[in-house]
Amino acid sequence: MNKINLSQKQSEIVDLNTGSFLIEASAGSGKTRVLTERVKKLLENNSSKILAITFTNKASEELKERIDLDKHKNKNIFIGTFHSFCQTILEARFKLLGFPRMPQIFEDENDRIEIVEEALKSIPAFTEFYNNLDSKEKPIYKSKVLSFISSVKRELAEPEDLITDEGDEHFLFLYNEYQDILKSNNAVDFDDLILLVYKLFANNEAVQNLYSKSYNHIFIDEGQDLNKAQYYLLKSLCGNQIKNVMIVGDPNQSIYGFNGSTPKYMRTFFIEDFNAKKINLEENYRCSKKVIDAANKLMNLKVEAVNYVIEGKFEIYKAKNEKDEGNFVVENIKNLINLKEHNDIEGLIDYNSIAILGRNKFVFKYIEDELQKNNIPYYFKSGNIGIKFQTTFMKLFDNYFRIKINPSDKLHAKRLKKLLKIEDFEDEVLITKSKYPYFLVIQKIIQNLNEDNFKKSLNKVIEEIKDFTFFSDDEKLEIYNEVEELKNLWIEYSYNNIKPNLIGFKNTISLGILKKDSKQEGICLSTVHTMKGQESEIVFLIGLDDGTFPYYLAIQNGEEDLLQEKNNLYVAFTRAKRFLFISYPSIRIMPWGDAKMRSISRFLKIFNK
Ligand code: ATP
Ligand code: MG
Repeated sequence: MNKINLSQKQSEIVDLNTGSFLIEASAGSGKTRVLTERVKKLLENNSSKILAITFTNKASEELKERIDLDKHKNKNIFIGTFHSFCQTILEARFKLLGFPRMPQIFEDENDRIEIVEEALKSIPAFTEFYNNLDSKEKPIYKSKVLSFISSVKRELAEPEDLITDEGDEHFLFLYNEYQDILKSNNAVDFDDLILLVYKLFANNEAVQNLYSKSYNHIFIDEGQDLNKAQYYLLKSLCGNQIKNVMIVGDPNQSIYGFNGSTPKYMRTFFIEDFNAKKINLEENYRCSKKVIDAANKLMNLKVEAVNYVIEGKFEIYKAKNEKDEGNFVVENIKNLINLKEHNDIEGLIDYNSIAILGRNKFVFKYIEDELQKNNIPYYFKSGNIGIKFQTTFMKLFDNYFRIKINPSDKLHAKRLKKLLKIEDFEDEVLITKSKYPYFLVIQKIIQNLNEDNFKKSLNKVIEEIKDFTFFSDDEKLEIYNEVEELKNLWIEYSYNNIKPNLIGFKNTISLGILKKDSKQEGICLSTVHTMKGQESEIVFLIGLDDGTFPYYLAIQNGEEDLLQEKNNLYVAFTRAKRFLFISYPSIRIMPWGDAKMRSISRFLKIFNK
């Protein structure tokens, strides 16, 4: 833990008395730090009943770590994302919301797409319409339906309210059908988590009161990312009782507009509804002066760098092509790592202090090749969505597990059938030969699953696998590792839960709260969105050609979307503590093989000398 003192202004915020406050300040000004220190101070003064909400699991983890949450296990404090907070409430109150058992979260986009496909089948006219779309239009249409459904939930709207174009009335039908299918699977999606808890509070004063009374202080980090459902959930949770709400945020870092987020909830609504006082912080404690100068220039700001002692770097490299861009990054990494004593850098740089960021995941292809060729360790930082199992074994297991804990889950039963190529699931068995061993092992696991002693049942599986002669040693090792991993996740989950249960476990995995990558070492590859709120000594920002960053769709959509892209670039710049290397390829090879000339991102033209 950093033992640096707080600035005068920062400590004043930490010491504030009761009331509601908006801390609006730029990146790296110590907003999260101040929030953390204030929570710590409250805990030290034996205040409890604290709720701290962040937007990413990573941010929650960090907060828990910095606060040393383990020391305060007996106190009433909850730290988590909006989604994880709502999940715990749902777990306790699902009956009030009309679910017979705790619903399962369908977090995977593919699951949602499959539900839309099923909904489209329910009326012949829709089926025909959909079938007549060509293969390029089909996914676009489905994602339009899904974003309509999400908007209804995030905007707390009635589906009718969001129909703008004539002829879109069928969205109403699809919305209802989608919801019915979810319900018949005893499942909810991500947006439902927030909406259902909002509705619960709105319709049930007793429950609302109970939760209001559970908290004296509420904190929200990254407040610019609030959307309507989240803001009104906050408001309804507070009711007339909770008066101490602190939101910290930076309007220039608003990058979730596509989720219906806008800074107006913290800047306007919060100030008015909670009579909140606004406080600013002006200095930046994270970045070197070179980085701050560039970020200021990009956003037309006048933030001061406090970290002036550290020599920084801001460099833009025009690469010939993507391969050359990959080379540029790797050569610089090698230089940084090899220089034992670097003139510009105090201390040594290791792989863990380097991040490579991109607008989208697809920009990493060539970099990955280069990193692998050079034996440089790296990992992808995962976002908020849960673990995606990679091996055949775990994919099958995941489906089987879902059906076992939620017998209403017809969607994954169908998927399992497909994966196993079973002709008739109910009457057993026509499983392809290659899948049969997996099937046997998984069946064994499922038969032995015992909620009261899940760990023991997994241990038993590990023991038994060694006797399965169908698997090669390599396969056995792979399965062993995956089961072991699952066991570790269960241990982590049960340590943090009073009443551990399998569906709660599965949902916690789906929300990405239990992480596989916590121990990952090496260079961090991440999208800018996932890196929000975090920092790295050295940042390589790749793929800064126009059309990639800003993304071509944002260019098509115009002003509002472009502003979000620019904010996103500002977020990217301000992740770098010391060096920021930016690069772009002059030629990009499209997936279908065409080579396209690319020019520098429109946002970076101001840096051209
Ligand atoms: P972002 O908007 O990117 O989330 P932030 O405003 O939340 O940024 P923090 O992450 O809290 O900023 O702080 C940025 C960095 O500066 C952290 O490494 C933090 O430990 C450090 N820092 C914050 N305040 C001070 C201080 N008074 N003295 C020295 N370092 C500080
Ligand atoms: Mg922060």
